[in-house]
Formats: sequence, structure tokens, C-alpha cells
Amino acid sequence: MLVSMRDLLPRAKAEHYAVGLFNTVDLEMAKGVIEAAEELRAPVIIGTAEILTPYASLEDLSAFLLPLAKKATVPIVLHLDHGLTLDMVKKAIRLGFTSVMFDCSTDDYYSNMGKVRALVRYAHERGISVEGELGHVGANASSAENHGPNDNSIYTDPQQALEYATVTGVDALAVAIGTAHGAYKEKPRLDFDRLKEIASIVSTPLVLHGGSGLSDDDFKRTIANGISKVNIFTDINTAFARAAHEVWKPGMGQTDIMPVVRLAVKEATMEKMQLFGCAGKY
Ligand SMILES: [Zn+2]
Repeated sequence: MLVSMRDLLPRAKAEHYAVGLFNTVDLEMAKGVIEAAEELRAPVIIGTAEILTPYASLEDLSAFLLPLAKKATVPIVLHLDHGLTLDMVKKAIRLGFTSVMFDCSTDDYYSNMGKVRALVRYAHERGISVEGELGHVGANASSAENHGPNDNSIYTDPQQALEYATVTGVDALAVAIGTAHGAYKEKPRLDFDRLKEIASIVSTPLVLHGGSGLSDDDFKRTIANGISKVNIFTDINTAFARAAHEVWKPGMGQTDIMPVVRLAVKEATMEKMQLFGCAGKY
């Protein structure tokens, strides 16, 4: 069934587990993720990011993601990750996405807060949930979200997080605690004390971006310390490509590869769902 993040994240926060957002760029990836959710009876957030739209447009993706989500036997949120412009965010809402992230994290603090507050009003009137980001989750050189050569994370300030969550009314808040988007070259240094402090004063469910490549222990600790949603793309993206590479032999065609890559995405997704503690919740 199709739901918004407001239907999933408050419970996740109360029960100390996290729901995964798995970004998808084609039908096989989407099916792999949804099959994982149904097999594990887990809630799931599925969608795409503005930066991934050159690979599949919002129109194309929503044409099959919406019916897949509606007929699924577990709750599914259709989410736009890192909407960078108001145009793109409103387009997603028009197309039937039930949740959007409006990423104004590269704006100054007050501009970020003002723009996101206005969008929250617009979205809530339509039953759509909104995620904001405060601080800035940086990107590795290999990431699709790299904003430039000097892209460094700016850690989220706990007091600002409280004010931001209160003023904007966001349903989920992405915080910067030392992760970066894309695959890691060096081991990330996570600021668990900062996360714990934010989670203790902000009641809004918190989101971890840049989770691909973290250790299992890192995930468990961030979730235990207040993360209710984790974004994943790199892990399922590489699982897909690796499976295609490993299985291909001369003479094989696309239809030989499709079930293999779908299963690889499903298995990578299930691994994360087990880790996040959301398996068996529905
Ligand atoms: Zn992100």
C-alpha cells in the first residue's frame, strides 16, 4: 500500500528501528527492493533523487513505481530524494509521489528554513510528507551528489536542529554527522555524541544520508542513537552491476540477466533491512 513517511517514521522512532530509502533507476531495481520488503514484511521507502533523473525521469519512474507501491502488501512511501528546486519537488507531488525532500542545505540557515517551511505548508495540505536537511552531508569524489572539489560536510548544530524542526514542521530531518555520499575511500568518522544530543532534543525523526559503505556496527549505533531513516543507493547500484558482470557469458541476452540482477538487488536490500531492524514490522 502507498503511504507517506508520516505513516512510518514516528513508529520507527518510538521502536528504535530505521526504515530504508532505496533509490531506484529502473524496473528491475524497483522490483528487487519491493520483493525484499514483502519477503521480510518490512516497510520501505522507494524513489529517486533529482540527480538521478538523467537515468530515468520522474514521469517514467512514477508510471511503474506508483502501481507497484499500491499493490504491494507492505507499506511503501514513494519519495523524491534531494529535490534541489521547487519546480522538481512540486512536479514529484503532481506525479503522485507521497513524500519529498527539499534540499536547501547549501543555502544559508535562514533561507533554508524559510523555503522549507513554505514547502511543508504546501505539501501537508496535500497529505505529502517533507524531509529537510540541516548542515550539509558532503560527497565523495565518486558520488553523484558531489557539489564540487571543496565539498566538505558541515556538521549539524543541535540547537539549530531544534529550531529548524520546530519552525519548518518537517516530517524528517537529515543531519550531518560525518557521513558522505557515495562510496568511501577512507573510513568515515561519525560523531555519535552529536547525534545523541540532536535526537534527545528534537522529536522529528532523523535521517542518515551517505550510509553506503558504513560498517554494520556503525549502522546499529546510529540507529540506537536516534536515526529513523537511512538512505541507500550505492550498495544496490553496485550489487546490480556486479551481478550482471559475474553472470554474463557469450550468447546471453538481457532476459538472462534480468532475474539475476533483480535477485542481487533484493539480497542487498534484505541485508540492510535486517540490519536496520525494520524486518517483521508489518
Ligand atoms: Zn543524501
